[in-house]
Amino acid sequence: MANEASMILPGSAVGILGGGQLGRMFAIAARRMGYRVHTFSPDNDTPAGQIADVEVKAAYEDLQAVRDFARQVSVVTFEFENVSTAAAAAAAEVAPVRPHGDVLHTTQHRLREKTFLSGHGFPFTPFAAIRNTLEIPAAIAHTGLPAILKTAGFGYDGKGQWNVQTAEQIQHVLSESPGGEFVLEVVVDFEKEVSVVAARGLDGSFAHWGVIENEHRHHILDVSIFPASLPPNQQIQAIDIARSVMQQLDVVGVICVEFFVTKSGKLIVNEIAPRPHNSGHLTIDASVTSQFEQQLRAVCGLPLGSTKVYCSAAMANLLGDEWSQGEPNWAAALAMPNVKLHLYGKNEPRPGRKMGHLTAVAGMPEEAARIVRQAREALSFR
Ligand code: AMP
Repeated sequence: MANEASMILPGSAVGILGGGQLGRMFAIAARRMGYRVHTFSPDNDTPAGQIADVEVKAAYEDLQAVRDFARQVSVVTFEFENVSTAAAAAAAEVAPVRPHGDVLHTTQHRLREKTFLSGHGFPFTPFAAIRNTLEIPAAIAHTGLPAILKTAGFGYDGKGQWNVQTAEQIQHVLSESPGGEFVLEVVVDFEKEVSVVAARGLDGSFAHWGVIENEHRHHILDVSIFPASLPPNQQIQAIDIARSVMQQLDVVGVICVEFFVTKSGKLIVNEIAPRPHNSGHLTIDASVTSQFEQQLRAVCGLPLGSTKVYCSAAMANLLGDEWSQGEPNWAAALAMPNVKLHLYGKNEPRPGRKMGHLTAVAGMPEEAARIVRQAREALSFR
């Protein structure tokens, strides 16, 4: 356990860079435990800001505003990985930033992340960097076609990703963003996708919730199911990789390691998210300690909480598309007693925008998945 003098105790103020739903759920956990919460983002009335004691509206590039923000709190964390290294460094001048800025720097850029993975012997998707059109032929020679082209930085939820069949398509994407850096990846013919959400304390302690199974639609997470149906040896391997990634990056906080499981049973790391993750939302309703409370405990130097999961669970995302026919029928979904509703306080239900999620708990994972899908379908009953 971290020594008591280094603990940031209830009653203290914690700062979050970012104003989205991950910050909101972190803020709910923190306020429940008696902390004060400050958020920093370029917008007003953000999902996180609605829960916070103090919502600071300023640009991330305004480093003086970041320093002033950090001065008001005992620790700074972030809720999305696209916070600039400069903003993290400015905050670190006046308060501890956890996880530290290098974790962000590595994981917010696909080329740096993949270099980290390959450099430490972790399994990764074969890829090639493309920084200009001259590099396209060699990249294709390495990955073959079709392939998946991704922006190296600032991509999320399928934004900045293209399934490409030809060199011309790659050229077209590059011509739309001159100077941009890209990664061309082999298309992995996976059997399934899984993730491990795990935490590392200030003292190096480690906790995880086991392996979660994920289904994506249009490159966006759709449904997560716990526990994943995966042989025990693969579960152990996935958890060992997550532990080792956290040690190598010296993370304090929660991260998520996303994997492809190939048809031959091989695990490949797809991505590392240096923060609580969408696939871990089911820990709020199904576990002794949620991923958000765990993030709070870790960044405050407190002992990590139990990650015991009470039962099987499944989570279904609610995208803005659910609103296309008007307000969803909440009562129909909530008529199912094992279903929990989480909404993020966003006003504009744009297609593809994450507005909330449903979680269902049950005795078996298949049952939880069936119930959560049924509940989501019930939202469109008129
Ligand atoms: P990412 O933003 O890299 O996590 O990608 C989002 C989703 O797109 C993944 O969870 C997969 O479902 C799909 N995807 C991304 N990269 C690949 C790949 N190289 N091969 C197959 N599917 C992929």
